[in-house]
Amino acid sequence: MLAATLSHFFHLPEVNIASIKHEGAHSKVLLCSKAPNVEYCPRCAEPSSTTYDHRTIRVKDAPVREHSVFLLIKKRRLYCKRCKKPFTEPVPGIRKRKRHTDRFERHLTEACNNFCDLKTVRRYYRCSGKYLYQTYYKQLELKARTKLSPWPKSIAIDEHSFRRNRHYGHTEFASVIVDYSKKRVKEVVEGKTSAALMDQLSYIPGRENVKNVVIDMCDPFKSFAREFFPEARIVADKFHVLRLLSPSLLRKRKEITGTRADLRAKKLLLMSSKNIDYFSRIKLEEFLRKYPLMHELYCWKEALHRFYRIRGYNKASRALTELTDRMARSLIPEIKTLRKTLIKRREEILNYFLTRLTNARTEGFNNKAKLVKRRAYGYRSFKNYRLRLLNACS
Ligand SMILES: [Zn+2]
Repeated sequence: MLAATLSHFFHLPEVNIASIKHEGAHSKVLLCSKAPNVEYCPRCAEPSSTTYDHRTIRVKDAPVREHSVFLLIKKRRLYCKRCKKPFTEPVPGIRKRKRHTDRFERHLTEACNNFCDLKTVRRYYRCSGKYLYQTYYKQLELKARTKLSPWPKSIAIDEHSFRRNRHYGHTEFASVIVDYSKKRVKEVVEGKTSAALMDQLSYIPGRENVKNVVIDMCDPFKSFAREFFPEARIVADKFHVLRLLSPSLLRKRKEITGTRADLRAKKLLLMSSKNIDYFSRIKLEEFLRKYPLMHELYCWKEALHRFYRIRGYNKASRALTELTDRMARSLIPEIKTLRKTLIKRREEILNYFLTRLTNARTEGFNNKAKLVKRRAYGYRSFKNYRLRLLNACS
């Protein structure tokens, strides 16, 4: 009766627990055997109940109340009359030649996801670092494989820095592809060039499904999207367009005040004036009145914000033409550059008014990527980084 209850408690349906032995202060050993059922030969599927001899295996199970649990299972070897060879009976939940139960591996993966670092997991589960890494990344790989699906309708691409190159010191990048319908990271790619993206994404089927691609203002992503998804509509990210004048505004401010500090003032300068409260706005206007060049730059930035408040493609198209025409009369070199960019990216910028898609979600995942990197104090292997990031953003 007690044995049956114990088996039930340990969730081992086909295993009979005979007794429990203490081994040191922190581990328990369960002496058990498998229920004597009829087993089938793995070679010819012939049923057999003829016992040939016995073997005892020792496997580690998930811990119970901070105590390691080992199962000492006496297994039968059965004789197959057709093959004239013996075979060992299988135990559900323990794979052949494994020293840990499947349950232990699942527990370990869960702990790796939730504990602050893998070293703590190693100490808690009393296993070697090599075993922990191998098991964890194998489980993540399996999980990533179950999420394989064709391309969705809307995607976004953005890059973030991955690490410093150890030999040359330059920054290496990782590109994130976000699935908009499922709100998760679809794939992480090493590098941010068009060739790298094509090479590493070619395995995903259903390219023709993609109708919208949101990108920032960089050329490699645009050429990649054009070539890889010929039927898709390319959308320039709203926030990247709004940010185009920020560096020149901040530079001008530094020239005037002689300092880059004062975050509050910086923020006020870059915010849309619609969101600034009354008293701050008065202060800002006072400051701008003293510096006409700065004021003009600020007005152009505000014009961009106003442009993005428009609803409807046709209205936006007319407004953009009018905006670039007005910019042509400006004498500030930054505005001339901005005008060129707006004309060059006109189609993508206007596509925003058809889809209203932005890269906000991708930026959110970039933030998460930063946390993933911090948690492991950086990664040397891109493969492992990719699996961790896919796991964190799924
Ligand atoms: Zn057989």
